[in-house]
Amino acid sequence: MTDQVRALVVDVQRFSVHDGPGIRTTVFFKGCPLRCAWCQNPESLRPEPEPNVGRWVTVDELLEEVRRDGTFYGADGGVTLSGGEPTLQHEFLRLFVPRCVKAGLSVGLQTCGAYSHSALESLLGDLGFVYFDLKLMDRAAHKQHTSADNRTILANARRLVADGTTVLFRIPLIPSITDTPDNLSATADFLEELDQERIHLLAYHPLGEAKLARLGFPIAPLGLSPDPEALPRAVSFLESRGLTVST
Ligand code: SF4
Repeated sequence: MTDQVRALVVDVQRFSVHDGPGIRTTVFFKGCPLRCAWCQNPESLRPEPEPNVGRWVTVDELLEEVRRDGTFYGADGGVTLSGGEPTLQHEFLRLFVPRCVKAGLSVGLQTCGAYSHSALESLLGDLGFVYFDLKLMDRAAHKQHTSADNRTILANARRLVADGTTVLFRIPLIPSITDTPDNLSATADFLEELDQERIHLLAYHPLGEAKLARLGFPIAPLGLSPDPEALPRAVSFLESRGLTVST
């Protein structure tokens, strides 16, 4: 059974220190339902193999790969499911995640939030944490910049918190798009509604935009210059709203 269910992954990155607590192995799953103009991993967007990008793995193969570094994980580290959007491959995750837990590996998930809650529900008990990205609170702006509106994403955020899952919300700070006072303020309102005290900010890097065009996505590059003041400005704004901010 487990040999028949395979996942399409772009990369397995060992010794990651930015994808959750401790030292982790991060698995980048291929396929994403969104099309953000600032995407840094455009090779992970299409849910099919492409020349030089993407390989199929079975549960046993991936488990063997992530277990290799188990001795370095320590008490905090483990495996982080990233992408792309890992929940698109939920049938695989439903087999893979319990096997990791059984092998003593803690598992965290990074998600854009655009998934069906019923697909994820049975996994939640096995996840140590969820990093959940909030991009734009305005529905139309979300659709304009990511190709989908945010209703499902916000509903899933509410549901995860209500279920008692450990969630860290994150905002990618895209100049003049997500880092505006209006959007940060609306995000702070939303976190207040969810009784969340923490937020993590991701700095903007224009690195993926040229790749989007090269890979044939009809998404115009934003062509924005990273603003060195944007991060401290957003930190101070969100702290003034009572949030504990990490970067
Ligand atoms: S959700 Fe993440 S992986 Fe998907 S398009 Fe947006 S930035 Fe890229």
